[in-house]
Amino acid sequence: MDLCSACTMPTHASKSNTSNTLLIILLPTKVIIWFKARKTPAHISNLPNRYEEKLGRTLPYHGPSAVTLGMNLSPSSLPIPNSFILKLLHRLLFYRTRPNKSSLFLTLRKRKFKIFMHTNSCSIQEISIFAPQTAFYFENRSPIEYSCPSMKTPKLHVKCFGCQMNKLDSSLVVTALRKKGFELCEKASQADVILINTCSVRKHAEDRVTSNLGHMKHLKKTRPKIVVAVVGCMAQRVGEDLLEHDAVNIVAGPSHIPQVPEMIMNALPKDVADAATGSKAISVTEKIRQKTDSQVSQELDDFELTYDSDENHIKHQAFVRAMRGCNNFCTYCIVPYVRGPETSRPPQAIIEQIKKLAQNGIQQITLLGQTIDAYHYEAGDKTYRLADLLEMVADIESIKWIHFITSHPGKFDTAIFQAMANNRKVTPYLHIPAQSGSDRILRAMNRGYTAQQYLDLISEARQIVPDVAIASDFIVGFPGETDEDYQATKNLITDAHFKNSFIFKYSPRPGTHATKRLEDNVPAEVKKQRNIELLELQNSIAEEDNKRFKGRTLEVLVEGLSPRPHLNNADTQTLADGSAATDESWQHPQLIARTAHDYIVVFNGPESLAGNFAKVEITDTAALTLFGRLKQS
Ligand code: SAM
Ligand code: SF4
Repeated sequence: MDLCSACTMPTHASKSNTSNTLLIILLPTKVIIWFKARKTPAHISNLPNRYEEKLGRTLPYHGPSAVTLGMNLSPSSLPIPNSFILKLLHRLLFYRTRPNKSSLFLTLRKRKFKIFMHTNSCSIQEISIFAPQTAFYFENRSPIEYSCPSMKTPKLHVKCFGCQMNKLDSSLVVTALRKKGFELCEKASQADVILINTCSVRKHAEDRVTSNLGHMKHLKKTRPKIVVAVVGCMAQRVGEDLLEHDAVNIVAGPSHIPQVPEMIMNALPKDVADAATGSKAISVTEKIRQKTDSQVSQELDDFELTYDSDENHIKHQAFVRAMRGCNNFCTYCIVPYVRGPETSRPPQAIIEQIKKLAQNGIQQITLLGQTIDAYHYEAGDKTYRLADLLEMVADIESIKWIHFITSHPGKFDTAIFQAMANNRKVTPYLHIPAQSGSDRILRAMNRGYTAQQYLDLISEARQIVPDVAIASDFIVGFPGETDEDYQATKNLITDAHFKNSFIFKYSPRPGTHATKRLEDNVPAEVKKQRNIELLELQNSIAEEDNKRFKGRTLEVLVEGLSPRPHLNNADTQTLADGSAATDESWQHPQLIARTAHDYIVVFNGPESLAGNFAKVEITDTAALTLFGRLKQS
């Protein structure tokens, strides 16, 4: 008889027939133990099979490399004491560090229990022991927690490119991996898993991913066990070609986000030799424009519901998806080809999710959709539109502010503005991209409205919600854009008085109508010049408009420390009337916050204000930022 050096348990090999089974599965961050006796009811004895089904593969407990090892229990040891289980687990963990030890026998009261181990070299975070009623050998039917001193917490590093949809998708995967025991880390070089969420909207965004993958390839030379998962729009667009990159282990499109955590767990290599083989897996949609399968929609929705806290985002704020995909086919845009057809989530699922978020302290919700104003869900006789959804969210007491982005100018109905005017929780902020001020270009873009219709829309919004802040997007250098077209865009910006505008240089995207049919004929230098000029125009208008805030006190929701604390730190020490501040707030760090209208406000205050509402007196203003001082209540 040997003694296990890890836990001093006696070991003994036995060859008697197996009549009862104790199945132990060691997963990268989890140990699951199932007891399977001869008289175990089917729903329990089937658990291992169901688990295999979930994993999508057979667990290798009948593998040829299995080495057996027996363990005698004292005959009087029923029920099995927890201390024994803990020692056993310790022993399993010890054996898991040795190659080829993948199965172990346990003899109990002359009856034999076979313990199957599925080993993996990654660290174990959580051990659940399922002790069903028939498994009377366990003292305790609830899961037994075990922590092994040799356990190492797996680290996850996230790089997220692109829009809020991507931020939300990253948060979903992070939440799922946290539940599997992962911890976030700041640097890619510290990580066991690197998640790259990609954007395809402009070529520049894809170029940044490609350059990052070059860095990952370099990193893998010294740390070959790192798993690199590339998800999101570029993963869907480039697919197999991306998987061929030396650094990449996993490729998954936006509709396959629910599968990503499991793909990552399966890809974690056991040892260096395993890592050298380089596990690869892909999950993308073959026919992206086909109506989303109801099972896929359900999976996406179920996965969405697991996101119930703000831990991956700004404190007390959360994004909630209201819609997926897009059906608009603006001629320059790749979104419909990578995120699939437009679908609205059921309002009940959205509300259920927001209620969970509210219970966890969330106060601001941002509803997301590519054309959120087109939200449309039919249930029996009732059709739910965005205005209905906004009212339903506003009924949740602890939700204080509700944003919604992004809106399409052609999809608005007055009820949305009215919901905003009637309910203070619906924040007076609209992001309605105009894209161009030229009717000719808007037609070529397939936007479905004219510049005048756009101006009429925002004027209607301002009539119903007088203080509404409006932001926009513009593309400069769209194929065929003349000086006259460009001037029309300048005119629209001058007339509209946007809070801010995002200006993009046209970037031809593979497969879009504009790329196939229109020549990218505006020279790069002209695009650049128009981009700079439009930003200057927009900023000069906003700078002038923002002066009206000076001296006013605004309510803000504090996000946290300002990422650029040097911004105007000295100026903010001057009050609106020009006098010097004498209070002690200047000893605090600079914080960043936003108003209900989405204006950025920076001021000095205690970091503990993050996630809370505060009152700030505005002392100075710039085109994109308001500066202020905390009002003591
Ligand atoms: N769904 C939103 C809408 O309808 O306005 C916008 C979604 S898109 C991801 C964000 C912005 O990227 C667009 O408003 C547009 O200004 C810009 N964009 C999209 N495709 C582009 C392209 N090919 N080149 C440059 N900018 C582009
Ligand atoms: Fe792209 Fe147009 Fe859809 Fe917006 S509405 S995502 S710009 S196709």
